[in-house]
Amino acid sequence: MRKPLVAGNWKMNGSRESVSALVDGLKAGLATEDGLAVDVAVFPSAIFVEQVGNVLASTNISWGLQNICTEEEGAYTGETSVAMAKDFACKLVLVGHSERRALYGETDADVVAKVQRAGLAGLIPVLCVGESLEERESGRTMDVVAQQVQAVLKGASPESLAQLVIAYEPVWAIGTGLTATPEQAQEVHAAIRELLAEHDADMAARTRILYGGSVKGANAAEIFAGADVDGGLVGGASLDVQDFLTICGAA
Ligand code: 13P
Repeated sequence: MRKPLVAGNWKMNGSRESVSALVDGLKAGLATEDGLAVDVAVFPSAIFVEQVGNVLASTNISWGLQNICTEEEGAYTGETSVAMAKDFACKLVLVGHSERRALYGETDADVVAKVQRAGLAGLIPVLCVGESLEERESGRTMDVVAQQVQAVLKGASPESLAQLVIAYEPVWAIGTGLTATPEQAQEVHAAIRELLAEHDADMAARTRILYGGSVKGANAAEIFAGADVDGGLVGGASLDVQDFLTICGAA
């Protein structure tokens, strides 16, 4: 019942030229009359959103922002608002990516506010959670992930969570070439779904939980085979058209 979602987080990569090649390749590779069996989305750097939207507007591929401001408008230098995201036809927004938590000090409270803001505006919040290597090695994976998920379940309104997507991204697997094993991923995904079920059974059934962390064409199928793995959030491999298309095919 859950339609898989494969999303590419391009992070701070690309140029006009490389973005053009990437979106042209995705458009050609995913062209279909009948709609795709999986949802596909890309998260370019905000400066490329108009360029991406111009090419993908006539396709089944969606696009979104990597971060969002919780304020409406005004004196917030460097930020992008939900109204701006919607003006450029963004459908989704990443919230709480581990790089934003670690490098820019985003707290659970910030993450809750962003999910709330994005969700109420009709954007799909893609909430990123995951443990560090040290947290995994000390047996605290589920405590950390549960804390990150619970903060949002408790702090954000039900309306803002109607379209929520969760991405489980173990920090130690991001950009390292290390991936969680399919069993490790499924274990955490099942536990996240259990947390959702304690909160709201419908939400548990409908919420897509993606895996992220060194997903590539070569490992996507085995990771996505988990019953609670509903697709992937892909970093590095999403910059390569062929690899990303292979990953979409695996979902
Ligand atoms: P990599 O696929 O490059 O490990 O990045 C994962 C990620 O952070 C996606 O948001």
